[in-house]
Amino acid sequence: MKFKYKCTQCKTEYDIAADLMVCPKCTQKQKADEPVRGILEVTLEGTANSDFSVFDLLPVDEEFFPPIPVGNTPLWQPSNIRKQTGFINLFIKDDGVNPTFSFKDRASYLVSAFAKQHGINEIVLASTGNAGSSMAGIGAAAGQDITIFLPETAPEAKIVQSLQYGAQVYKVKGNYDLAYDFSLEYSAIKGGMNRNTAYNPMTIEGKKTVSLEIFQQMPAAPDYVFVSTGDGCIVAGVIKGFKDLMKLGLIKKVPVVYSVQAENSDALYRANQSGSFENIPTSTVADSICVDVPRNGYHALKLLNDFGGKIIKVSDESIIEAQHNLASSCGLFSEPAGATAFAGFMAVKGDLEADANVVVISTGNGLKDVASALKGVTAPGNSIKSVQEIL
Ligand SMILES: *Cc1c(COP(=O)(O)O)cnc(C)c1O
Repeated sequence: MKFKYKCTQCKTEYDIAADLMVCPKCTQKQKADEPVRGILEVTLEGTANSDFSVFDLLPVDEEFFPPIPVGNTPLWQPSNIRKQTGFINLFIKDDGVNPTFSFKDRASYLVSAFAKQHGINEIVLASTGNAGSSMAGIGAAAGQDITIFLPETAPEAKIVQSLQYGAQVYKVKGNYDLAYDFSLEYSAIKGGMNRNTAYNPMTIEGKKTVSLEIFQQMPAAPDYVFVSTGDGCIVAGVIKGFKDLMKLGLIKKVPVVYSVQAENSDALYRANQSGSFENIPTSTVADSICVDVPRNGYHALKLLNDFGGKIIKVSDESIIEAQHNLASSCGLFSEPAGATAFAGFMAVKGDLEADANVVVISTGNGLKDVASALKGVTAPGNSIKSVQEIL
């Protein structure tokens, strides 16, 4: 298999290199407070059969990947939810069981291998919490030094995780967007590899592995895939994976991908309606998708439009309800951003055929943000002093 970079805006091709993150031409037009310009997509050239090894479709040799089991996550057949909704071919891809309990491990794994291949031992990134704890964990397995910039509001569990893995953690006086800018400034001065989502092409490329696995796990190719969306890298990675499968002649078309946003953090949804991105402060219970400026906005929007994808939004209440529904009816406890895709499916299922092959991706584990999960349940009252009290 041969791999190159291709600019998603001006289409210029480049050889893959460790110091090339965005298209040098398009980045000159970059303005502050807008999505990243000149995002480089990895293109592949070659042949593969349906029993390919996922590593063969990645641009870094298997020997460089750290010894930690990322991916190969289970595809659930949730019979209670199937009964509840009438969707007999509904599947849930549970990415909350990755080593650091979120989908982000798919990106960190490839970034770590890419850095190792190029002899780089320092990795720097901004994160709402999961990308940071993910890079910290994968970096620990690889023996790499990880520096993380987080917003002030990052959930405690994600910070503790990162510290346990041995990363250097900084909280910034502000939001994720400020952390993003700080991390770029820091890596420009200090060197090392920047793993900012979208900015580092390997983040999107690593995320495509979920689609490759779905293809190999499903009895038939999916018709619809639901993905929760903040920066728009997961959704782009999901589409990229199916695009590669199509290029290799293994599927006939890319499934309809639903990008699901939170009602008050809906920058991609708004840009799709209005044609431009505005920097409006956002808020949602789903911290992992709370993003003012979606860094992969231009690219994600283009992919969604090119392949018939849809962008929808759901309320925080429906996210909390979806989280509890998933947990209580199938035993799958996902964090609010992880359950957002399921909330999206519940919102639009009336528009879909009940026998369609549907995959909902759950992107993170519920224990990552216990404070939000508590909103969907009633905590036990005062401690009881005898069983008689509750009979
Ligand atoms: C990062 C993340 C998302 C959203 O991914 P983007 O690439 O930012 O759109 C969704 N769910 C979880 C749990 C995440 O950590």
